Amino acid sequence: MSFAQLTSPYDLAREERSAVFRIGTAVLTRVVNLLVEKGFQWFLPVVLARSTDPLWPDGDTGIEKRIELEIYGQKVRAMQSMIVHKRVLVSLCQDKLFTLSPNIRIERRERCNTGKHLYEFTQLDLEVAYAKSKDMFTLFEEIVVDSISHVKRCSEQELQILGRKIEAPRPPFEIHRKRDLEETHGRDWEKIVSKESKDPIWIIDIPREFYDMEDETSGEWRNYDLLLPEGYGEVISGGEREFEHGKLIRKLDRDGVRKEEYQLLLELAAQGRLKPSAGAGLGIERFVAYVCGVKHVAIVQPFPRIPGLVPEL
Ligand code: ASP
Ligand code: MG
Repeated sequence: MSFAQLTSPYDLAREERSAVFRIGTAVLTRVVNLLVEKGFQWFLPVVLARSTDPLWPDGDTGIEKRIELEIYGQKVRAMQSMIVHKRVLVSLCQDKLFTLSPNIRIERRERCNTGKHLYEFTQLDLEVAYAKSKDMFTLFEEIVVDSISHVKRCSEQELQILGRKIEAPRPPFEIHRKRDLEETHGRDWEKIVSKESKDPIWIIDIPREFYDMEDETSGEWRNYDLLLPEGYGEVISGGEREFEHGKLIRKLDRDGVRKEEYQLLLELAAQGRLKPSAGAGLGIERFVAYVCGVKHVAIVQPFPRIPGLVPEL
């Protein structure tokens, strides 16, 4: 099965496409049920907002363009992630929540063949008040193991059609510091580590956006990514969060990020109402691509947004 065959709009009825579809449905159903069983509330996403993830600074950002438009006399941006909305909601309303959120990130067109990038993708984005990194490791390990086990049980035929052999990994997953991997493997560490490892691994201490918690004394970032094996790469990204007003301001200034876009977040922090929390987002297309063993995330989306390409549908 080749990527070109499966992304043609005339191939939507192919048997393999249908198998990917059914496995995608099984994964989503299991993940959502698991979260609801654990007491999470499901909130609906929005796409246009005055405030969104700055995606800056982030070593992995390859954004070609940020979508900004004017409606009703106000500037709004296309959602890059619902991090700000999650933080506000978890502080004011519900301690455990998630959404399935469309994110628009206009990736550089050279990324069309990485197999991992789409300029629209869906993120399972969740946040938990007062949680710590280790709570998120346990939760996401359960999500990964449980949904793979579910697919093995219920979608045996589909896995066979795709020629996919997959085992549910055994938790706890290994944890590595980003800078140690960089030191050992060089700039291409992510590709190398993801190809070489047999199981998913956690990467911690990643310098990036202002909202992730940074220990100002040790310089350590209390955040994490989950790297999938077999070259599938990063599938989850998250962290413990900054909640102190002064620290948020210092970091926004340091990064050169516009404070006006984070007014409500900053107001809540100034009033001591921004709760400490932790959370993460899991890229649905990447995860399903891994479970199915397909070589490009575009195969998971019937209407894929491949960097550099604007399809008819
Ligand atoms: N959703 C991520 C988080 O919770 C941020 C991202 O989309 O990269 O931290
Ligand atoms: Mg990020």
